Amino acid sequence: MQQVVIVGGGISGLATARYLTDLAGEAGLKTTGPSLDLRITLLEAEDRLGGNIRTDRFGDYLVEQGPDGFLDNQPKTLELARRVGLSDRILPASDAMSRRFILRNGKLREVPGKPQAFLTSRILSLSGKLRVLCEPFSRSSREDDQTVYAFARRHIGEEAARILVDAMVSGIFAGDIEKLSLKSAFPTMHDMESAHGTLTRAMFAKMREARMSGKKTGSPMGPGGRLTSFTGGMEELISALAGSLPEETIWKAHPVTAVSVEDAEGQSMWRISVETRRVTPHILADAVILALPARRSAEIVKKTDENLARILSEIPYAPLVVLATAYHSRDIPFPPDGFGFLAPRNQGLRILGSLWTSSIYGESRAPGGQALLRNMLGGAHDPDVLKLDDQELSKLVKEDLRQAMGITADPVQTWIYRHDLGIPQYNAGHSRRLEELEKIAEHRPGLFMTGNSFRGIGVNQCIVDAETTALKVMAHLQRQADRSLASTKANPAL
Ligand SMILES: Cc1cc2nc3c(=O)[nH]c(=O)nc-3n(C[C@H](O)[C@H](O)[C@H](O)COP(=O)(O)OP(=O)(O)OC[C@H]3O[C@@H](n4cnc5c(N)ncnc54)[C@H](O)[C@@H]3O)c2cc1C
Repeated sequence: MQQVVIVGGGISGLATARYLTDLAGEAGLKTTGPSLDLRITLLEAEDRLGGNIRTDRFGDYLVEQGPDGFLDNQPKTLELARRVGLSDRILPASDAMSRRFILRNGKLREVPGKPQAFLTSRILSLSGKLRVLCEPFSRSSREDDQTVYAFARRHIGEEAARILVDAMVSGIFAGDIEKLSLKSAFPTMHDMESAHGTLTRAMFAKMREARMSGKKTGSPMGPGGRLTSFTGGMEELISALAGSLPEETIWKAHPVTAVSVEDAEGQSMWRISVETRRVTPHILADAVILALPARRSAEIVKKTDENLARILSEIPYAPLVVLATAYHSRDIPFPPDGFGFLAPRNQGLRILGSLWTSSIYGESRAPGGQALLRNMLGGAHDPDVLKLDDQELSKLVKEDLRQAMGITADPVQTWIYRHDLGIPQYNAGHSRRLEELEKIAEHRPGLFMTGNSFRGIGVNQCIVDAETTALKVMAHLQRQADRSLASTKANPAL
């Protein structure tokens, strides 16, 4: 029998467990019942699964602590959701989500959806708009790992970079445009520049391609897609995934303290040390998958491989605070009808933005006559937000929502969630770090790492990476089994 241990029961760990179970089944391996061929064990530190994904229900309010949804343009997440029985629970965002706002000079301005609307909008000054229109004459960069700011400034000018791009980056990475790497954080944009030189030429090429293939490619500027969740919130995906796995697979409240490698009968085996009084303090496995934030993986591997631990601990994280507020709709002067607003860093607010959850998902999130807003604070520019207590945070959000949306009333309810390891930051140098990690992995057969610290920060990318990891693990197990068979043939006494 072979043994695989997955460390971490967030979406990455659970999706990896699901894919591995399916791949093993396709290969004819038994993963449950007596006389197992492959035992898959998932160890989660907390007494609940889901990691960042957590949905709270308070009466008629449904509040997400972490992700509000995923974009439906990546088929893997929807496929996985259907596979675990959630077809009837998929909840796409309402059409209102196409209306997005950016704070500019103290007012919320709608982000123009069409070029004509951009020309008449007041989101940028006249000179800022004219500079954007000069994009077809901009230069491409020879720098291999340029920042998002350097890229945006060159193509669309300083003002659009500081307003439009800064806001977009806050909304996705809660990051710093002067530090984030274009190729690691926004690979589509990087590829567009490399292939076409200017974004205008890239947009036309994408539109031509879409016309010829008859396929919808979403917005020519980005990945497109509709935000999607589940009727009962994002945690439904976690519960359904966990429920689809054999009961003996998942071990909650089993924090892993270390993984180390040892030689057992000529094979490299992984020793996983667990902090618990109830079961054996360690498990010996053919493969171990760390499905954790890189910082946590660093702590676990540091005694085995200092260099690996150093590289993992160098991946920075931006903390996030989600402060959700419910109001009577009549108390909100600026109707929260749309996706929400983002506040560029130079516009004087401390909140990063506000997602209008009850407009995005309707009455499944708040009782009729009320609006639920999820206000985000923190990010790479403001890590100190974690030092504020509940009262200070509520006061700050109240003042910022007064300025942005004219709200002076107190909220009916408030919920506060702190994420100290909120979003990993793919800053310039991230791709070099990934290359180093891959080299180390080559010399550490049986050790795998997945999760949002590496190749994509969202739920969709975690699921794509989980499948790739499961395939690599199966290939490793096959090699391990072949070697074992060969040595048994060479030495039948074994
Ligand atoms: C506020 C917020 C909003 C977000 N919004 C969106 C969004 O709208 N859309 C989107 O796509 N993404 C969003 N994200 C990102 C998304 O949440 C993550 O990509 C995803 O949840 C990461 O999942 P993971 O399994 O890789 O890691 P995690 O969710 O961090 O899971 C890791 C798990 O490992 C466990 N663990 C840690 N240490 C140990 C140990 N020593 N032993 C055993 N277990 C351990 C943890 O308890 C946890 O359960 C958001 C994130 C945050 C914080």
